[in-house]
Amino acid sequence: MSKKKILVTGGAGYLGSHICLELLANKYEVLVIDNLVNSDISTINSIQEISLKKLKFYQIDIRDQKAIEKVFSENKISAVIHLAALKSITESLENPYEYYDVNVSGLITLLKVMENYRLKNLIFSSSAVVYGKQTIQPISEKAKLSPENPYAFSKSIGEEIISSLVKENKLTAGVLRYFNPAGSHESGLIGDKPNKTQGNIIPKILEVIFGYEKVFKIYGSDYETPDGTGVRDYIHVDDLSKAHILSLQKILNNQQNHTLNIGTGKGHSVLELIKAFEEVLGKKIPYVFENRREGDVAECFTETSLAKDIIGFQSSKDINDMVSSSLNFAKNYSA
Ligand code: NAD
Repeated sequence: MSKKKILVTGGAGYLGSHICLELLANKYEVLVIDNLVNSDISTINSIQEISLKKLKFYQIDIRDQKAIEKVFSENKISAVIHLAALKSITESLENPYEYYDVNVSGLITLLKVMENYRLKNLIFSSSAVVYGKQTIQPISEKAKLSPENPYAFSKSIGEEIISSLVKENKLTAGVLRYFNPAGSHESGLIGDKPNKTQGNIIPKILEVIFGYEKVFKIYGSDYETPDGTGVRDYIHVDDLSKAHILSLQKILNNQQNHTLNIGTGKGHSVLELIKAFEEVLGKKIPYVFENRREGDVAECFTETSLAKDIIGFQSSKDINDMVSSSLNFAKNYSA
């Protein structure tokens, strides 16, 4: 039987590159669309180097319908994993139109092409950010969505568009709401290395560790959490990638739609994360407290039972795995 072809949009990015590796390891053929606005072509080479397998790469903007049509016309695609998006809350507040254009119009463009090619199978990268502030923790998928910034709205609008198409039987979709992805592949060759201001917390800590920044800024020290700093559910990128394979299998084999939280169920504060780095490094990381950032919430961690029941997903790695693999990756590119 020939291998199924999976299109990964945003596949040169942090999460996409790890998902590509997991797909290749699970004997799928992989095609990537990415405009490289927040990634580098060298990542595609690294994926091939680690996996010893080839993938097809297309440097295309997700809003370019003609170019995407061409990819579909040249390949019989079985499913799309749609990650291509802009992802900084702060940047989305400064430039909401760009966020709606890439994250919402980009999704619509992709969906139009999928419909033209009669492809229904989609996995969509959503985010825990769609929940906004929730009084009840851990957060279950039943919680009412409460997006608070353009980035969050762009994801909840995307979910609504997908859900309406699912109702009309035009799509079979796995919507995955990631909590806080962290860590890197064990090879140390791919990881979280953003091009511009779209970085997550770990790259920012690494910038201080490797001397590119003098001090790490912690936004908010007066949240109602045990140590006053924000609490998040960090999930290892390897676990997150495995969740995509399980979700994909559910869609390809059972045509079962699902919307699931993907996290560990455990919250860690920013200070705990810094301490975990300090313990592995054996040295202190300088930090200062700044005011809270607009759009940030005090705590956010997930209920894990639905992901376990529906796709059999359970995380296996902990915060120390995330810290040590991030350091391993950073050592390679900082050398
Ligand atoms: P990333 O920026 O590393 O990857 C996104 C990729 O999409 C990049 O390679 C970028 O070049 C590409 N891209 C952006 N705009 C594009 C466009 N117009 N056309 C084509 N390609 C484009 O981000 P990531 O952390 O890997 O996130 C991947 C997805 O997961 C995003 O949809 C993001 O919203 C979602 N997500 C990420 C996190 C996180 O903390 N990393 C959390 C929740 C959800």
